[in-house]
Amino acid sequence: MGVRVSLGTPLIMLLDSPINKIPRITASYVKKLERLGIKTVKDLLFHFPSRYEDYLNKVTIAQAFPPNTVTIEGTVKDIKTTRTWKKKMYVTESLISDDTGTIKVTWFNQPFITESLKKGKQVRLSGKVIESTQGSYLSNPSWEMASRIPTNTGCLVPVYPETEGLTSRWIRWQIQNIFKYALSLPDPVPEDILKKLYLPSFKKALFQIHFPKNRKEYQFAQKRFAFEEMLLIQIKSLQVRSAWKKETAPSIPFQEKLIKDFVKTLPFSLTNAQRKSAYEILKDMEKTRPMNRLLNGDVGSGKTIVATIACLQTIDVGYQATIMAPTEILARQHFEKIAGLLALYPFRIALLTNTYKELSGEKSVKREILLKKIEKNEARLVIGTHSLIQKDIRFHKLALVIVDEQHRFGIAQRAYLQQEAKVINDGIKDRIPHFLTMTATPIPRTLALAFFGNLDLSVLNEMPKSRKKIITEIVNSHDRGKIYDFIRQEIKSDRQCFVILPLVEESDALKDLKSSIEEHKRLSEKIFPNLKVGLLHGRMKSKEKEKTMLEFKEKKIDILVSTSVVEVGIDIPNATVMIIEDADRFGLSQLHQFRGRVGRGEYQSYCFLFASAKSSEKNKRLQALSKNHDGFKIAEKDLEIRGPGELFGLRQSGLPDIAMKNLTNVKLIQIAREEAENILRDDPALKNHLLLKQALEKFERRVHFE
Ligand code: ADP
Ligand code: MG
Repeated sequence: MGVRVSLGTPLIMLLDSPINKIPRITASYVKKLERLGIKTVKDLLFHFPSRYEDYLNKVTIAQAFPPNTVTIEGTVKDIKTTRTWKKKMYVTESLISDDTGTIKVTWFNQPFITESLKKGKQVRLSGKVIESTQGSYLSNPSWEMASRIPTNTGCLVPVYPETEGLTSRWIRWQIQNIFKYALSLPDPVPEDILKKLYLPSFKKALFQIHFPKNRKEYQFAQKRFAFEEMLLIQIKSLQVRSAWKKETAPSIPFQEKLIKDFVKTLPFSLTNAQRKSAYEILKDMEKTRPMNRLLNGDVGSGKTIVATIACLQTIDVGYQATIMAPTEILARQHFEKIAGLLALYPFRIALLTNTYKELSGEKSVKREILLKKIEKNEARLVIGTHSLIQKDIRFHKLALVIVDEQHRFGIAQRAYLQQEAKVINDGIKDRIPHFLTMTATPIPRTLALAFFGNLDLSVLNEMPKSRKKIITEIVNSHDRGKIYDFIRQEIKSDRQCFVILPLVEESDALKDLKSSIEEHKRLSEKIFPNLKVGLLHGRMKSKEKEKTMLEFKEKKIDILVSTSVVEVGIDIPNATVMIIEDADRFGLSQLHQFRGRVGRGEYQSYCFLFASAKSSEKNKRLQALSKNHDGFKIAEKDLEIRGPGELFGLRQSGLPDIAMKNLTNVKLIQIAREEAENILRDDPALKNHLLLKQALEKFERRVHFE
């Protein structure tokens, strides 16, 4: 292996030992390390560099030209530290010579250097050569004695995630000191797979990620660790998938005529994507294995119709179906829409939430009565919120569960929901219902591959043709007046408008509330005194929210000011203008979500983005949104710019950064998938892959999107 690691007498210390067992790591360091999530010896070994400083360019002093980053070696000829005239800064100046010449070196605010770097010492320095009127000099270089193994100079120097009082330099020494203990760690990834993929073994990769000789070494090492995570994800999802496939579900025969006739009743023709997805679902439900499918489609791509088709088929043959929405507003909207779509059919549709107990054709049914009707199969389709998962709700024969996530749940929560839905009293013995999840955030292919390996996918990647593009513009704040004029005009022509305020973190809910109340006051009193301005925020009771939304829908409100904590997944075809304040604080996908709330009717719609930041980087993001209308492309762009951590709530998933970064690597994910399939085919219980099994158990404890 390398030369930089000393194999001294091993201490009696285990990898799982607490970090304070390492000599010289005092209590104050333990605290700082804990801030970085490092508690054990092993954690420290797994604290991977976030980047590397390239100090491989070794030159003689005569060859040290600006503006290169170089490594030189020489003798300290002179060194002194002075304080600047305002006594605010220490400046250390030194002269270093080798056979070819002398170079000036300066450090700022590191006065202690003079204690180590004495005249006559042989030293190695790495840093940037700067041009100045008094000749070039080496600025703030990293340094160490020439006799030392290159650690901070002369090599690729790892830069670690740091915390106050804990520098990368310090971390480097510590890892060097404890690296020998890593040699006892076994490699969970089978050797033949690593060989086939030209990936280094665990030990080699761990060494090369901390002490790489060249770029290739750390790149391969990173890939090795990312691959391990991918492999575990895939094994896990294949296991979940095969467990699911062991269950039995009622077969729901696909009656082509029924569906064709239904489609004929629609005022439009289905998109090809809707047709294909509906077909995939109907074919899947014919099987006696439960469907477990994700309907992945953009806002407005027409998921409701596809869901309705699946429900219609299910209830027509005598089973029940249920749709769970994330909020009461959305449940109600689904209920109204679907009851309308199915009005010609003899089936009764129920709406059941904490607030609503309704049956199509009747209003306000008593809860007990509704539950009875569900139990007796008189209510065939039940639409509601999570309140559907309650012990006292018993279905007669529930064969299809649809969960509409409407962007509310992160990837992490999805599967949990599915587990929850499994406990519904479905009334069908020894069988479970078919399962369909709908998501309104288009999920890029790579992420779907990585995280939904246990699900089959149907994709609505095509919008209804009639849909007009929403004209999206980034607006400068001094053009605010013009935009407000434009809104007045639109409202004069009977249209309506949304004003969206940025989401402040849950912890800032109060601030959020305050700013929305202030903005509402400003708009209603100063800007639009003659118009009706409504307000919707996260602190309102759901009854109040409901009331406001209803008023908006009934045009009793012209302009609705809303914070983003509030579900805006509401269908108001008459709304044509949306203003998004501080748009740069949202992610692209989220902005796209909001934007999808206008342009749902026949009118040309507009989205105006106000940005608080001057940064051109952020504005570039917003421009991507104004040019782009395809939710899948936007999500991919978001993934590229912000990484998966911020998107889809993966930051809290427990997945290490190194794997996170590789979630865009389709090839790596595909290979991991194939290898996971190979392993499980011959060894489904991982009896011959004990190390992998152990790694998987740890993974399950650590990562929780499953
Ligand atoms: P989402 O995928 O966001 O849930 P919806 O199902 O609510 O979208 O559909 C959005 C709107 O588009 C609805 O008003 C619906 O009636 C309409 N719609 C759905 N499919 C089509 C189609 N193929 N052609 C035209 N309009 C459609
Ligand atoms: Mg929808």
